[in-house]
Amino acid sequence: MYIPFNKAPIVDTTISYISKALGDRQAGDGIFTAQCSSWMESRFDVSGVLLTTSGSHALDMSAYLCEIQPGDEVIMASYTFSSTANAFAGRGAKIVFVDIRPDTMNIDESLIEEAVTDRTKVIVPMHYAGVSCEMDMITDIAQRHELIVVEDAAQGVMSTYKGRSLGTIGDFGCYSFHETKNYSMGEGGALLIRDPSVIQKAEIIREKGTNRSRFFRGEIDKYSWVDWGSSYLPSEMNAAYLWSQLEVADEINLIRLARWQQYYEALKPLEYNGLIELPHIPEDCVHNAHMFYIKVVNESVQSGLITHLKQMGIAAVFHYVPLHSSEAGRRLGRFHGEDRFTTIESSRLIRLPMFYSLTSQNVQEIVASIYGYFQN
Ligand SMILES: *Cc1c(COP(=O)(O)O)cnc(C)c1O
Repeated sequence: MYIPFNKAPIVDTTISYISKALGDRQAGDGIFTAQCSSWMESRFDVSGVLLTTSGSHALDMSAYLCEIQPGDEVIMASYTFSSTANAFAGRGAKIVFVDIRPDTMNIDESLIEEAVTDRTKVIVPMHYAGVSCEMDMITDIAQRHELIVVEDAAQGVMSTYKGRSLGTIGDFGCYSFHETKNYSMGEGGALLIRDPSVIQKAEIIREKGTNRSRFFRGEIDKYSWVDWGSSYLPSEMNAAYLWSQLEVADEINLIRLARWQQYYEALKPLEYNGLIELPHIPEDCVHNAHMFYIKVVNESVQSGLITHLKQMGIAAVFHYVPLHSSEAGRRLGRFHGEDRFTTIESSRLIRLPMFYSLTSQNVQEIVASIYGYFQN
């Protein structure tokens, strides 16, 4: 038996759409890219969606659009991926880490306001496991202190908070379509923009600093270099791969949710016996089953169980080493307040296999192996 941690989704139309993209001989910003962006604009209800080469690049673009200057401060949780911090640190910002809530592993919204100084410019809520941060409170703090909100919704495609899609609540939202995410382009992502007047500026950054997008729409008769930019637009082949999945996005979501629920029900007795903790989904949140994780009592059980599952042919993994205690984080950021939960909670979390083609039988086998570990 071997059950991998992840397998990128491939659906019936994937190969034929990719061949069509090749045949169309359009490098980027062709039919498939347009279909993906307009589908997301209407499905998630947001003014603009620009497909990008990665979620990290969507974050980089948002940091530029926030006009980050050296010395500005950006608030985020330390329990996140390096890209959340890189985007802002790369423009000279100081990263200010605050603690997480142990129930969702998200930034603790009640600790944000005391970390705000007169240098603070942006708050970056990262929605861990596709479960939303407490956005009402975060938006309220941002409004009162005139801060920008950039949602790192890399894991939150198809999730909602009080009925609104993650990535559309802040000023900017960043999606990832990396192969490990719910919908994959291999490598890819998207930048979601709430204010329509900012879309043109974002298009320029994405097109090497030129106004080529306007030229293609026939709005101007030649294009030129107008701002800083880079090449953040993905190949049509990658967009074709993504489009094949967006067309069946609900089906993929339902299957993932069914596997998630199966894990949850089957592992409940272990939680009842105090051996593990299961994920918590707050009432206002509808999640997308991006991840199924459990928390065990301590770090030694964490590594013991991961090793046991590996011996059984099951790839389970730990997650982030908190950024504030990592080499770059110590240099580029500081932790505001007390680290009550970030370090300890991350040292006892285990992610179990979760992907579209994971079968119900696979979940049964994984659950049985977990029970096997605790019986010894
Ligand atoms: C995956 C991920 C990213 C980066 O996305 P890429 O597409 O791999 O660049 C950023 N932030 C979080 C929280 C992620 O999970």
